[in-house]
Amino acid sequence: MKVINILKKSKSTLFSFELLPPLKGHNIQTIFDSIDKLVEFNPAYINITYHKEEVVYRPDPFGGVEPVKVRRRPGTVGLSAAIQQRYKIDVVPHLICGGFDTHETEDALIDLDFLGIQNVLVVRGDADKITGKFEPKRGGHRYAVDLVRQVEKLNKGIYLENLMETPKQTEFCVGVAGYPEKHPESPNFESDIKHLKAKVDAGASYIVTQLFFDNSKYFKFVESCRNAGIKVPIIPGVKPISIKEHISLLPKVFGVQIPQELVSAVEKCETNREVYELGIEWAINQAKELKSANVPAIHFYTMGKSNNIARIASAVF
Ligand code: FAD
Repeated sequence: MKVINILKKSKSTLFSFELLPPLKGHNIQTIFDSIDKLVEFNPAYINITYHKEEVVYRPDPFGGVEPVKVRRRPGTVGLSAAIQQRYKIDVVPHLICGGFDTHETEDALIDLDFLGIQNVLVVRGDADKITGKFEPKRGGHRYAVDLVRQVEKLNKGIYLENLMETPKQTEFCVGVAGYPEKHPESPNFESDIKHLKAKVDAGASYIVTQLFFDNSKYFKFVESCRNAGIKVPIIPGVKPISIKEHISLLPKVFGVQIPQELVSAVEKCETNREVYELGIEWAINQAKELKSANVPAIHFYTMGKSNNIARIASAVF
């Protein structure tokens, strides 16, 4: 079923989560084990992230280094189909601009359609870690909005080449990303909301937010979106911190702020076990408040670990 219909059908806040494909060489069972711990909380759908290849530098035979392309986490499409088949829960594979030209994107969408997958979360992909800039593949999309448009065209049966008279129309429900603390590359909040609205106007049915630790940021973001004329559901994304390093790492990687109250509490922890427990407690409080505000769903970023998410879900749902 399409995520938007799942959301429309539900009268209470739903539980959903995001998984990463396993590192190359690992078994799919590791993912099933994570899901097994969460199925009892009735996930409405499960997202699977997409990871493009990255450049790493390895020693060359002449004593220098050479750039090598590696893909650490392939398998998004296969994993999505395997999860949907095994658990009969709808999956939402992520589809990114980076690393794809439009023909490859079209082929990927055809694969998903043939596998009976009706949902995609459309995102641009991260900027290059070294240059800090995002460069699309030649013939690919620069912004997520362009990828939303391509999916929506396919939903109308418009392929890149002229095919037969009435080509198959796909039926993808498209979600997109939103940033309560603005996207790190955006010059300001207003500009970011304007570009978010363009994604919705292009056909996105709902928005999933970047992780945040202060609910007031989410509530303000929703208000700004509504004022800008964005009417679709806005699903908050929650991630429990689990190690001390997160308080410096997460702001750097995701451009989010950690409230001083949480920073101080983490600084007082003597072990990562204490940080882990604190992260669970903070996320439970966040999720309870979001649920009482009647948000459509709460989307948990698992980062491949589900024990803490299971504890949060059992306290909240
Ligand atoms: P866009 O919507 O294209 O926006 C990128 C930037 O460009 C923003 O600053 C925006 O304001 C600006 N912009 C947009 N349109 C225009 C325009 N027309 N002109 C000028 N500026 C414009 N990354 C992955 O690699 N794989 C994943 O699976 C993945 N999943 C994610 C899931 C969620 C819920 C979130 C929040 C992020 C995810 N990401 C993932 C990270 C995402 O790829 C990055 O945050 C990326 O930097 C931006 O993606 P976007 O879709 O928001 O980009």
